Amino acid sequence: MKILLVEDDVALRGALEELLCREGYDVVKAFNVSLARSAMNSEVDLVMLDVGLPDGDGISLCHQWRDEGVQTPILFLTAKDEELDVVRGLDAGGNDYVTKPFRMQELLSRIRALLRRNQKDSTVSRSGITIDKAKLQASQDGEVLMLTVTEYKILAKLISERSIITRAALLNALWDVDSRFVDDNTLSVHISRLREKVGSSHIKTIRGVGYQWVD
Ligand code: CA
Repeated sequence: MKILLVEDDVALRGALEELLCREGYDVVKAFNVSLARSAMNSEVDLVMLDVGLPDGDGISLCHQWRDEGVQTPILFLTAKDEELDVVRGLDAGGNDYVTKPFRMQELLSRIRALLRRNQKDSTVSRSGITIDKAKLQASQDGEVLMLTVTEYKILAKLISERSIITRAALLNALWDVDSRFVDDNTLSVHISRLREKVGSSHIKTIRGVGYQWVD
């Protein structure tokens, strides 16, 4: 799940990015309106939008996006003295808001709720394995698989795409998990652990290229 984080406060943006990455979300950052506009695309599943930005305000931006037909859920991040703006924000098409300073656990549950509401078809199933992108969870024959965030991401990528996935593409999708770099060797380790958990016959090695899911 991809979150566009629009916030000009460097410290807060950094803390939020760390938190969201640790939870397994992909984070795209922007610190003003114009960068937020260019970062927005159909792959974004949720926007976290600060109200006061250096080159404009989040509420007008939300308004513009809704006018343009953007339906992505928007969660406003508002300062206490901006609370009056919240009503305007929700009128502008925002879905929810949190007031700074917020508790991180509360923020995460708001995010999950918005993603769930929006992602009715967020599950992909193949060969008895179901990936629930809203819950960031995988299950096999109805039983939740105990996976690390990295294993989950590999599995989700293999199952969602029917084609061969190159090692480079996998590494690219993984490198920001928990801010730890996943190198070629660690990728092989993650793959072999994942094979133990889901059945080795499902993950085929395409020598010199990458991997492919086999039903
Ligand atoms: Ca701000």
